[in-house]
Amino acid sequence: MTYTPPLIKSGPRVAGELRQLPGRILVVTMEIPWALFSRHYDWQPGHLHFVTDMDLETVEGLEASLPPCDVVVGLGGGSCCDTAKYLAWKRGCRMVLAPTIISVDAPLTNMIAVRVDKTVQYIGDIFPEELLIDHSLIQAAPKELNRAGACDIASIHTALYDWHLAHRDTGEAYHADIAKQAEECLNELDANASEVYGVTPRGIDTIVDLYRREVKFCAEIGTSRPEEGAEHIVAYAMEHLTRRHFLHGDLVGLGILAISKLQQNRPEWALDLNRRCGLRYECPDADIGEIRAALSTLKSFKEQAGLFYSIVDTAPITREWVEEVIEEVEHARP
Ligand SMILES: [Zn+2]
Repeated sequence: MTYTPPLIKSGPRVAGELRQLPGRILVVTMEIPWALFSRHYDWQPGHLHFVTDMDLETVEGLEASLPPCDVVVGLGGGSCCDTAKYLAWKRGCRMVLAPTIISVDAPLTNMIAVRVDKTVQYIGDIFPEELLIDHSLIQAAPKELNRAGACDIASIHTALYDWHLAHRDTGEAYHADIAKQAEECLNELDANASEVYGVTPRGIDTIVDLYRREVKFCAEIGTSRPEEGAEHIVAYAMEHLTRRHFLHGDLVGLGILAISKLQQNRPEWALDLNRRCGLRYECPDADIGEIRAALSTLKSFKEQAGLFYSIVDTAPITREWVEEVIEEVEHARP
């Protein structure tokens, strides 16, 4: 699948353009984003479908049961965008995405996150080509959900360290020019952190543009190494251990805090970036015991899951490190 750059329109009322779409329109959404959209715009598409879950069987069933369409519209969060991507991928039809929240990179990536046996698997291959970034709709969501979108850019900090480590120790392919581009994205997030925190139009556009750039350079080299390092292993370990779903930004925020310490990679700066972007690294939906357990068993989890080479392979996991992270987490809790 070759990368196609998306056409991104952003502004206060751009989702109104959906009303001008030609042909048979199928909108894939959920109750809350659709109610929000309907408060702003008067429009009834040909067919409206409310997403229930992302189980593989469910999305496969939709392909057969939903009426034929010329355009599929994904309106809502990650699951709405991913369901729309699945349908457009299977049907080969035009797709327009109007995310109402920017907590995940689903509106920009070519992969579709589905659940098989309660674990996330990625399928499909379709690069979104038309995006409507409606500031009014996005700003209506709770701020912390949109701030969470910073996590997969902030993760570049710890991911680049691990990528270089893997290159040095195992000879894994490394691209210095791509690493530099990733670093530029991280710096741009750093410079715009207060806008991201405030979920201002500039903050929203910054996140979307950084996602766009990240998806592009990861597609060029065929790996997410520049943004996926051991901080994501922490996130996967938490989900595996608890068998619950969390806001991705909470888990990755915790991962950045923990792994920057393990790497001895500017941990104070990383913690400060977490705070300035509003990432909830204290993981309010987890208890301290769960976090402690996930960190303590990181090596065995990584082995079992067969995950990529990182600082988890080389640094000792000590009680001191675990307790240092827990201390920061507790400090950030009310
Ligand atoms: Zn991520």
